[in-house]
Order: sequence, then C-alpha cells, then structure tokens
Amino acid sequence: MTLSNRDKKHLWHPLTQHKTSPDTLAIVKAKGAKLWDENGKEYIDGISSWYTAMYGHCNPYITHKVAAQMQQLDQVVFSGFTHEPAIQLSEELIKILPANQEKLFFSDNGSTATEIGIKMALQYHFNLGNDKRVMLAFEEGFHGDTFGAMSVSGLSVYNGAFEHHFLKVVRIPTPNGKNNTEVLQKLKQLIKENAIAGFIYEPLVQGAAGMKMHDVDGLNAVLKVCQKNGIITVADEVMTGFGKTGKNFASEYMDEQPDIMCMSKALTAGLLPMAITSCSQKIYDAFYSEDIAKGLFHGHTYTANPLACTAALAGIELLNSGEIQQNIQKVIQSHSEFLKEIKVHPKVRNPRQLGVILAFELNVEMERYGNLRNKLFQHFMGDGVFLRPLGNTIYILPPYVISQEELRKVYNSICAALDIF
Ligand SMILES: *Cc1c(COP(=O)(O)O)cnc(C)c1O
Repeated sequence: MTLSNRDKKHLWHPLTQHKTSPDTLAIVKAKGAKLWDENGKEYIDGISSWYTAMYGHCNPYITHKVAAQMQQLDQVVFSGFTHEPAIQLSEELIKILPANQEKLFFSDNGSTATEIGIKMALQYHFNLGNDKRVMLAFEEGFHGDTFGAMSVSGLSVYNGAFEHHFLKVVRIPTPNGKNNTEVLQKLKQLIKENAIAGFIYEPLVQGAAGMKMHDVDGLNAVLKVCQKNGIITVADEVMTGFGKTGKNFASEYMDEQPDIMCMSKALTAGLLPMAITSCSQKIYDAFYSEDIAKGLFHGHTYTANPLACTAALAGIELLNSGEIQQNIQKVIQSHSEFLKEIKVHPKVRNPRQLGVILAFELNVEMERYGNLRNKLFQHFMGDGVFLRPLGNTIYILPPYVISQEELRKVYNSICAALDIF
C-alpha cells in the first residue's frame, strides 16, 4: 500500500475538507530547495514549506549542530531552569532585532506567539490599572488559529463556528498610499469610541491574505497615532521575519519600532517548531512586581526546547553570513527581472515584490479552495514546482539557497500557467 493510501485511515489534515479533497501527496525526502514524493518525482519548493526552510531543507550546518546538541541536553523545564542554547539564542537574536526589543518569551508556533503578544498587550494595561480591553487589527490580517489569534484575524468564513467566542476587536483597512487619510480618520474615530489596548499587524506584507503589500508611510502614520494614544503595537513577523523582505525584519523599514514582536516559521529554519514573542523594556517593566499575579502566567511544556534553540541559533548564523546575504540579493534581482517580463501580460494583475516575496493576481475568477484553483495547483505540481496559489493569487517565496536554474523552472511554469488559464 502506498503512503497516500495508508494516510487515509487515521490522519486528519489541516485546512482540509476531506470529503472533497484529492489524495494527500507523500513526501519521502527533502534537500536544499527540493522535495521528493514516494514515486520518485521531484518538486522545487517554491514556498519554502510555508516560509520556514529558508536556508534549504536538511541544511547540513543546521542538522549537525542539532545532532550534537541532542547528545548533550534534549529537554528541560524552562520554568526555574535555563540552558546555554536559550541564552546564546537570546544574545544573538537581540543583536538583529530592532533596537528597542529587550526581552524574549518562548512558545511553540506562530499562533501562540501572537496569542502571547495579545496577552502581553492586554495584561500590560490591566497591570497598570487601565480599563482597555479592545484589540485593533487590519481587516484582512492573519495571525493564527488559536482563539485570540483567530479573533484578531480578518473575519474568515472558515471561523464561523467560533465567532461568538471572540475577543472584542475593531478593524481598519490597510493603507495603500491612496487611502492613508481615510485610514487615519477611521483609526481616530475608533480610538474615540473604544478603549483600545493593542494593535496587531503584519508589517508591510499580509501573508495569508494573499501576499498583499501595503504602504510604508501609511503604516508609519498608523503606528504613530497608536503610540501617541497608548496603544501597544504588536508586529506579527511570523511570516516576514528573518530576511524575506530584504531586511532581517519588515519592521526595519519603519520609523516606529513595535512594542512587541512575534516570530516563528523561519526562526528555526524549518527544522523544529518554536516561536518567540519579544518585547521592549517598557512592556516587561509592567509585569515586574512584588505582586505574583502581575507576572505573565503563560507557559508551554516545550518552552525554549534546547534542540529548537540550537536550530534557531544556527539559522541566525547562516542569515548573518555573507553567502546567504548574497543569495538573498540574487533572488531579489531575479524576481525583479521576472516581474518586468510578466507585468505587461494581460492576465497579470497587481504584480508586486518585497525582498524574495513575489506575487500577482491571475486575472481569472477563482475561489480560494475552488476547482479552478486546484487545477492551477495541479499544473504547477505536474511541472515539478510546488506553489500553493491562494485563490487566484500566485506567489513565490523560495528558499534563499535556490539555484538560478531552479528559479527559472518556477518562472517557466508560471509563464505556462499564464497561457493555459
Ligand atoms: C503562519 C502565520 C501565523 C500562525 O503560525 P502557525 O505556526 O501556523 O500557528 C501567524 N501569523 C502569521 C503572519 C503567519 O504567517
């Protein structure tokens, strides 16, 4: 029996309606920018396995470091204990974070990272005795699938069963350069009508919304108004972090630094699940007290797992290396040439790029998980290219180590799709 067949008996996959979905594809091997299925067919991983494996799959530098750590210390409670990998990671990560970030709080995935960011913002005000309980978010944001994270995400038809249980959230559109004044007006109105505790946002690129990009000046203005009004700003860099936008963090494009930052995905280079919520001294100080209840009573069993910390450290070393920085520049260059090539095509709408993230809309009506979208996905897979269109949005977010030849193969498959669909 094939793996795909055995899979059906007991496994329940994420974001999947099993009744209408095609069979799952069994992957048996990954290396660099490539994946291999159980029939031996190879695919270029054009989305770095959901923006994680940026230094390539099974990167030997990272796997060797983690293998060595495995012989030394596998896991220990992080409440009351500490260890070298977490300490060293804190020292290296703080060096590349925006200058105001001072403290790191660990968890396991992007949703818990944002959940903790939201809890920090709400409890910050609670501890200071401010009656502020409303969160502010962008209309089409995505921050994860736990309750707090779902609440602040743009309302999704898939979250209908839980909407009655959500936090109180008010929303503004993303600033696009043309609507900046209206966005600010709406924001100021909302601030008058609600006691807003915090603003959570994906800086500059909204991943799940379809790699939608917004205006730097507009976001700066929103952040300024938030900071002036005592609203804690929470940058969700789970997708944008660790080099994808051409800077280590998208927040580096901004004048205003966030109070809190959420990281996961590429943090551990695609090897192990882990997340970090970082914050400024001001946030930490609001929890620092003789009163135990003012502490942040949140903790996960695998907090700061030494193996995951080691993977993260090795990833940051690679990110800082001249070689990876050159690779990033090469991908950015190739992407912008490819965009020039396709942007005049009548089926290409709203072509855009930031760093190694390239996206556009195919000028054809498609539902997010509809039939035509699935055909488009199958077209890419048939070509040995793993891209995961979001409705009619086609995007590439390749590992930094992808070769020019592999990148060309991805581009060619996209060009073919433009003619077929
Ligand atoms: C993926 C993602 C999350 C959720 O992370 P998970 O690890 O899937 O829980 C949150 N925020 C953003 C911006 C993301 O891209």
